[in-house]
Amino acid sequence: KIRGHKTWNELLNRIQVEGGTDEQMKTFYSCLFRANLFSRKFYERKANGEPYYYSPYDGKVYDGYMYTDNGFWDTFRSQFPLTNILHPTMQGRYMNALLAAQEQCGWLPSWSAPGETGGMLGNHSISLLADAWAKGIRTFDPEKALKAYAHEAMNKGPWGGANGRGFWKEYFELGYVPYPESMGSSAQTMEYAYDDFCGYQLAKMTGNKHYQEVFARQMYNYKNVFDPSIGFMRGKGVDGKWQEPFDPLEWGGPFCEGNAWHYTWSVFHDPQGLIDLMGGKDGFNQMMDSVFILPPVFDDSYYGGVIHEIREMQIMNMGNYAHGNQPIQHMLYMYNYSGQPWKAQHWIREVMDKLYTPAPDGYCGDEDNGQTSAWYVFSAMGFYPVCPGTDEYILGTPYFKQMKLHLENGKTVTISAPNNGDDKRYISSMTLNGKDHTKNYVTHEDLMNGASITFKMDSKPNEQRGTKETDFPYSFSNEFKKKK
Ligand code: CA
Repeated sequence: KIRGHKTWNELLNRIQVEGGTDEQMKTFYSCLFRANLFSRKFYERKANGEPYYYSPYDGKVYDGYMYTDNGFWDTFRSQFPLTNILHPTMQGRYMNALLAAQEQCGWLPSWSAPGETGGMLGNHSISLLADAWAKGIRTFDPEKALKAYAHEAMNKGPWGGANGRGFWKEYFELGYVPYPESMGSSAQTMEYAYDDFCGYQLAKMTGNKHYQEVFARQMYNYKNVFDPSIGFMRGKGVDGKWQEPFDPLEWGGPFCEGNAWHYTWSVFHDPQGLIDLMGGKDGFNQMMDSVFILPPVFDDSYYGGVIHEIREMQIMNMGNYAHGNQPIQHMLYMYNYSGQPWKAQHWIREVMDKLYTPAPDGYCGDEDNGQTSAWYVFSAMGFYPVCPGTDEYILGTPYFKQMKLHLENGKTVTISAPNNGDDKRYISSMTLNGKDHTKNYVTHEDLMNGASITFKMDSKPNEQRGTKETDFPYSFSNEFKKKK
């Protein structure tokens, strides 16, 4: 009991918060606690202190570290990125354990509990690996990781939807996963395109030309399931015909636990590409705004009844914004790519105030291995990792007057917003280490060097700050535009 108390107390003190109400402090520390409950350590110590484990994948005993009980479809988004900041040593061990698990079971884990289940969709181990590398973790062999991922991308797995790719040939030949041939097809297409970007990033960062070329070909595939005539991602058949009938309010079908209003934003690596598809910033912003203007209406016919994710959206009553499930959780931050960062600030504060409380019903959906909590912890800092695999954290709005992050390397990140308050959710200006900061993001390096970030808050939006393209965060399309 004493050891447990000490461990948690040390951990919770890694982030020190000041200037919130009792309720806000309780919510924050509950979220910090939950964001750190998973993954589970799955190893023991020998008499000499060295780690060893029983593999849940092949039943043999190995030397080294192993971790399990995590579904990456949820947690690649911000729970693992938070771990990269708070626990880089553990993350380094974990990334090696992923590759060891791949050797033991033949596939990269996607939903281990404790052995592999293949639950949900995507091949998001590569997001974890690329993000770890982008954040300076060098404990694993990147070529081994890329080979394991290539095997994932070009084979059908034995379990659920997230081991290998059931329709990998179609994805390569057509450029998308077809519907109704595959359920969840357009969600898969978007997530594979992002995962391929992560493969590309890891290859690029480690000078691996071969895999850089292999994965670069697929990163725009999300465009193949966007129907410009209606402005949504949509299902598309093997014959190239759009799904009929189509209702963007319908949950499931070519999506998974969400509808087109939720999934259309799943272009983490290329928001600019999505903005272009929507006819530019105005069209994009209008679609973003519409998520909230729309009432919480839905079509549950695919599921034959109201699944809990639908009910949560309805009860939370924030239009069609379904924060209780993962696909849309990064979406608010996308106003930073389209010249209206104050709208991100407005809605993030709404979500923090209304959808999280310290009461027993204080979460608006499943906790999902700490993902929904990690969203809150990041958002309270004032930024969020929209695209794991890059080193950028995209601005939101700080929640407290002051926050101190004590890093494993001994450095401290101080986030101050002295005039912050319930009536002051908008950033009027900010400084990074005393210098005016106009960009809509900070980098991992900024944080790891120890940083002093100061926000000046206001009750009215500053509609000038962060509106120039040079202030926008990373989009893959821009990387290629720059090259031209
Ligand atoms: Ca979920």
